[in-house]
Amino acid sequence: MSWFNANEGMHYEGACIRPPSEADSILLQVTLGCSHNKCTFCGSYHDKRFRIKDDGTILSDILFAAKYMQDQDRLFLMDGDALIIPQQRLMWILERIKEHLPRVKRVGAYASVKGVKRKSLEDLMQLRRNNLGILFYGVETGDDEIRKAIHKGSTAETCIEMGRRVKEAGIELSVTVLLGIGGREKSLQHAQATGELLSAMDPNFVGALTVMLIPGTPLYQDYVQGKFVLPDELGLLRELREMIACTNLTRGYFFSNHASNYLPIKAKLPSGKKKALDLIDAALRGEIGLKPEWMRAL
Ligand code: SF4
Repeated sequence: MSWFNANEGMHYEGACIRPPSEADSILLQVTLGCSHNKCTFCGSYHDKRFRIKDDGTILSDILFAAKYMQDQDRLFLMDGDALIIPQQRLMWILERIKEHLPRVKRVGAYASVKGVKRKSLEDLMQLRRNNLGILFYGVETGDDEIRKAIHKGSTAETCIEMGRRVKEAGIELSVTVLLGIGGREKSLQHAQATGELLSAMDPNFVGALTVMLIPGTPLYQDYVQGKFVLPDELGLLRELREMIACTNLTRGYFFSNHASNYLPIKAKLPSGKKKALDLIDAALRGEIGLKPEWMRAL
């Protein structure tokens, strides 16, 4: 391609966010921001107006990666929700990745309920056949009252349905839930409803993050005005305990090892559930130290 110029490098725009597990992946930015961009706790893409990047730029980045990132066998599609891209265009991107980066065996992306809803089961299966191997799905909570309050834009039922669709298509499903998002008042309600949602959806991986209050977000405003009160450290641990206790996966992993959390947990479910609960109980009794505040980060 005459317009491909290796000196331009990758055409990244703004802050680039990816899941921790995709640290070694090629990062290909195919969209800017998130098409929803309304969740009250989220400050990820406030600086970006959503758009799908043009095919020429995407192809140029794929060619750059083909030239300089030949060792990586995983690729992550940024930004917020690549599944929003119409099927034909997304297929074109996956086909170009296959063509120019044959070592890449797994493509991942963030996914929202809205994005998955736009794909039929057959669409998702077609994407799977073209190496889309894992989707990172923001669940946050299984409680509809809280989902509404945080402007998640979908009900728990639809969230479960779309998560199941992803799994049915043979794509691995990694979901995130947010400790503390129900505030102090609805902490256990949130934990129980989220455990129920996870049990019904049965994802491959669950990552529990702790809500971080980000200046500029509506949730931060509520916090400043005293309308939102985060549970304290022990409250968050109790919430995590209740969530794990209510989560029954046929075969999956429950992690709470994100930098934002006070106590790292890595549990294989169902076999590791008791051990995880015992560990949390020990922490609640003060027998295990929690991560100090200054070490927590997004
Ligand atoms: S869908 Fe995800 S990226 Fe978009 S606003 Fe909500 S939390 Fe942020």
